[in-house]
Amino acid sequence: MQALDDLYERMRAANDLALGYPAAKDFDLAPLLRFLDFPVNNVGDPFADGTYQVETRAFEREVVAFFADLLRAPQDDWWGYVTNGGTEGNLYGLYLARELHPRGVVYYSEHTHYSVSKNLHFLGMRHIMIRSQKNGEMDYDDLRETLKIHRDVPPIVFANIGTTMTEARDDIRKIREIMDSLAIRERYIHSDAALCGAYAPFLDPRPPFDFEDGADSISISGHKFLGCPMPTGVVLARKHNVTRIARSIDYIGTLDTTISGSRNGFTPLVLWHRIKELGRKGIRERARRSLELAAYAQAQLNGAGIPAWRNPNAITVVFPTVVEPLRRKWQLATQGEISHLIVMPGIGKEQIDAFVEDVRAAHHRSLA
Ligand SMILES: *Cc1c(COP(=O)(O)O)cnc(C)c1O
Repeated sequence: MQALDDLYERMRAANDLALGYPAAKDFDLAPLLRFLDFPVNNVGDPFADGTYQVETRAFEREVVAFFADLLRAPQDDWWGYVTNGGTEGNLYGLYLARELHPRGVVYYSEHTHYSVSKNLHFLGMRHIMIRSQKNGEMDYDDLRETLKIHRDVPPIVFANIGTTMTEARDDIRKIREIMDSLAIRERYIHSDAALCGAYAPFLDPRPPFDFEDGADSISISGHKFLGCPMPTGVVLARKHNVTRIARSIDYIGTLDTTISGSRNGFTPLVLWHRIKELGRKGIRERARRSLELAAYAQAQLNGAGIPAWRNPNAITVVFPTVVEPLRRKWQLATQGEISHLIVMPGIGKEQIDAFVEDVRAAHHRSLA
């Protein structure tokens, strides 16, 4: 059909130019296509058997276990599932925190992803915005001062492990130390590791963001660094917390622990396939290549007279925003005065070079 052919061509061309959003492009799902023959559905809890058997829960459990290990979850005290993306994982983490601490107040920095204020609105949770430092990381002095004033209510800290615009990472160990020093015992920390969760464990130094560092739940997007043709993600939490809020539902013959009822059974297969294909070694190598190319992109932009910068060990290159036609062509995410490109796996040197050439030409025209 012509309409589909046209759409395919348009998407193929757009995909080659997309530099501004965090989507890996280097996946090949040929071995999984036959699974599209079935109305697959992982309804309910991935760890409980349900009545419906056209499902991939065993593969989903392997995916969750892989991330539990990667994110140093406590032995035998973790639970999780494959979500529709980072946003759902964040909603789950906040929901769990609210059930555990109904009076809790959520603290998050001003550079937090736009979906979080919507989530907080859904959940009706009290929240206080904390200042950010210039690089996008939470301002810990502001957090300390704010916590001091509200010592009578349990804090729920929503930490960014890779802010949307600058890939700044809040330091969970520092956040924990602040709460320790104020003798705040009843508390909760959620890690929004949508972008960085899949590769931060391989960075040196390893950013403090996982369970061993003090997180109570972590959300990761699967379609970002690992790559998947449709949005997906993984959320993990401490099992004893989850058990406290679980309910059994007769209609599906299983536990209603997840946010969605019907759940995608195909995306767990994609993640499983990606993990098996790449292994830890492959993911580490992807991170290394992306970092190397991000450093290259920054250097090339600097060479063209553009004051581009990066946070340490970040694959996001930030620069003063460029003219609108270039933002549109390269699909650059822009906020206020800054834009960024994110050097995801699947982006090659040629694309960086072509982009820098465009920017250089536009920059010189504007100076002329
Ligand atoms: C991408 C992102 C989200 C949202 O994740 P989706 O998978 O798009 O739902 C949330 N927080 C951060 C920091 C992100 O980078």
